[in-house]
Formats: sequence, C-alpha cells, structure tokens
Amino acid sequence: MLLLAPAVLTLLGAATATRLPHQASNSHGLAKRATLQIPPPMPAQWPSIDQTNFITGNLLTDPLVQDALAYVQSVVPASLLNIPPSTFVSGATVKYNSDVNANCYWPYNLCVRTAAGNGYQADVYTCPQPGTWGISFDDGPTVDPVTHDDSAAIRAQLDKMNIKGTFFVVGSNVIQNPQIVLDEYNDGHQIGVHTWTHHPLTACTNEQIVAEIKYAEAAIYNATGQVPNFFRPPYGDIDDRVRAIANALGYTVTIWSQDDLAADQDTTSAAIGQSLINSATSTWFSNSSASFVSLSHDITPFTSSVILGILQYVDANRASIKLDIEPVGTCVNKPWFRSGAGGSPGGTNTGRTSSPTTAGLPYFASTQAAPVVTTTGSSPAAPPTYPTALALAPKSASHAPTRLLEPGHASSILLLGLSLGLVICWL
Ligand SMILES: [Zn+2]
Repeated sequence: MLLLAPAVLTLLGAATATRLPHQASNSHGLAKRATLQIPPPMPAQWPSIDQTNFITGNLLTDPLVQDALAYVQSVVPASLLNIPPSTFVSGATVKYNSDVNANCYWPYNLCVRTAAGNGYQADVYTCPQPGTWGISFDDGPTVDPVTHDDSAAIRAQLDKMNIKGTFFVVGSNVIQNPQIVLDEYNDGHQIGVHTWTHHPLTACTNEQIVAEIKYAEAAIYNATGQVPNFFRPPYGDIDDRVRAIANALGYTVTIWSQDDLAADQDTTSAAIGQSLINSATSTWFSNSSASFVSLSHDITPFTSSVILGILQYVDANRASIKLDIEPVGTCVNKPWFRSGAGGSPGGTNTGRTSSPTTAGLPYFASTQAAPVVTTTGSSPAAPPTYPTALALAPKSASHAPTRLLEPGHASSILLLGLSLGLVICWL
C-alpha cells in the first residue's frame, strides 16, 4: 500500500481556525486565504512515467501540489475531505470503505451529482441539448507513435468529418508526447485532465489527488499553454471527496453515458472489434433526439479501431444520423480552458482561439528538470495496463473489493452485480 497518511485538514472561517502551513498572515495577523495559482507553477521534477507508481515523497511537497492543497483545504468542507480513501488492491481494483450512496460513488450505482451541493458541483455525463453527441477519448496521447499513432489516426478521421472532440489525456503520456497534445490543440480539439498515473482516485489521499490533477495540468499547460476546465476520473472512480477536490481545483467532472467498451476486452480480434462497432452503431443512434457523452480510447490500435469504425459508420450514414457531434465543452456550453491562463484569450467553448507558438509556450525554466521525452520510439514506455475483465468479487456487502473497468458496460454489469448481491464497479 503506497498511500500516505491523509493530510490533517483545518478549514478557515472561524477566529479560532488553525492557520494552514501554506497560509500567510496579513498585517492584522489574520490568516490569508490560500489562492489557486493559474497557470500552475512548473514543478521541480515530474513524477515517474511508470503508471504503476503512486505519486509519493518529494513529489508531494512541491509547491505545485502544496499550494493547491492549501487552497483545496480552505474551500472544501472537512466532511468531504474526511471521507475515508478506498483501499487500493491492485491495478483497477479497490475496496471502497465508506457509504457508496451517501458519497455518490459512481462505480457502484452510476451516481452522478446533477446539481451543486455543499462543496461540490454538478457532474457532466450527457449533453443538455437534444440530438447532441459529446465525443471524448481517454488515456492518450499515444505512448509509442512509431508503432501505432492512435491519437493521430483518430484525429485524421475527425478532421475528415470536420468534427472536434475532447481528449482526456494522462499526464505521464503527455510529458512523453507533448507534440501530440499540441497537435490536438492546434487542430481545435479540446483537452481534459485524466490524472498523471491513472490510478483509481478514491484510493489516493487528498494530497495525492491534488498531485494527480496538478501534475497532469502542468504537463498540459507545458504542452499547449492552456489550463483545461474538464476532468475525467480514471475508471469513473469518483466519490464526493474526489469530486470536491477536482471542483475546487477548477474542474468540471465529466463522466459518460455511452461506452464503446473497447478497453474492457479480455482478448482482441477483428471480429470482436466489429461486434463492438455493431453494438455501438445499433444503439447509440437509434434515437435521433437522444444525447450522450461517449467514452472511447486513443491508446491501442484495438481501442482506436473501434471508435474509428463507429466514426466511419457515421460518416457513411450522415443522411440518417442527424446528431451534432461536439467536444464536451461545446456540448455543455462551457469554455474548455481557463480565461487568461495562457497566451490565447479564453472565453470560447469551441476550442482554441489562436494558435500557440513554440516560442510562447511555458517550457521549462533552466532550473527545472527536462521532461522525459520518448524519441523515435527507441525507449517506449510500458503501455498502461487495462482492466481486462469484470472480476466478480465473491464478497458481500459494501466492503468487497471492487474491480474497476475502464470503460465498462455500466447497465449490464450493474444488473449482474445486483443480481448476485455483489458490489461491482467498473469504468
Ligand atoms: Zn482512463
């Protein structure tokens, strides 16, 4: 178990409040509220690109993390910050240690917050306008662009169809392939945060959740000059603690309502891929007024082939498929990046408003460690590990380990799980 002790939380607001370590005092001796630095300060070093490692040690004491943590502690109710973390079992398996319903733990029952509450904001999980498809791609950018450039392959198809999408990128992949993210940005696509290590976040301490988001945010800013507004939790593993922390850091939590299931497969083949394409195309477009946010993955040739097949089907049937296909920020009418964070003006929900230039990008100061960049595929990083099957946990009640699948077949798995009296989670 790599978790650290949860941070001791003290909130502001009362005269007797204990000053947080990162709060300053004004001339009156009053605690000054922590502020969130946007754009983020660049870290002294980047976390490992090995996604099996939790973010620990000195990486957590970097001002990038600590300043943001102090801000989170100053604005998020202690009742949410004190929700106990899950127990990390392995990979995508966690044991949830608290009340799944009270904390709106999405993997258990697809719980989403549909309205703001005390300490959290509403989640995005579909598009509000009828007949709108919010299209998104997780886990990229492609780790090894020499052997498979999945992000670019998807982007080429989107370009062919004049569609923009949202790429929820993983920081440890961004730092290896910043050009791919910049290409996505320059093509007018939207970028969202999908953590640094892709661990299930309920198994992280508050400090680690902040670190997962802020390091990924810094890597995206380093690549594009923009700070995103949208965040997707790996495996959909989110409760009110994770939700409130992400919200406090300025992020709109984005789940999904349709899933192409390509990343859930134990085995992959052309036949399996075609069956997934057939399944999606026979259900996603059956109602022209339906709206949804889709989950696909630009991370392996197989996952990319499935969404490419779906898109090619749509391209061939445009006369009958009337959906507006948009990135998530556009479908919910919210800018995908923060106004004033970078060199480009914000306030648009349609993507960038001007192209960044390399000269204008906030690349590393001389005192900072250079990013690890994979060149020509000579030292490709280990590919991310995916949950490959639903692991039925033969345990009872709410403390059974939960195997999180990304993405997962929500409704069918839920029904199966409920029928067995199990707690089953998936992505
Ligand atoms: Zn993911």
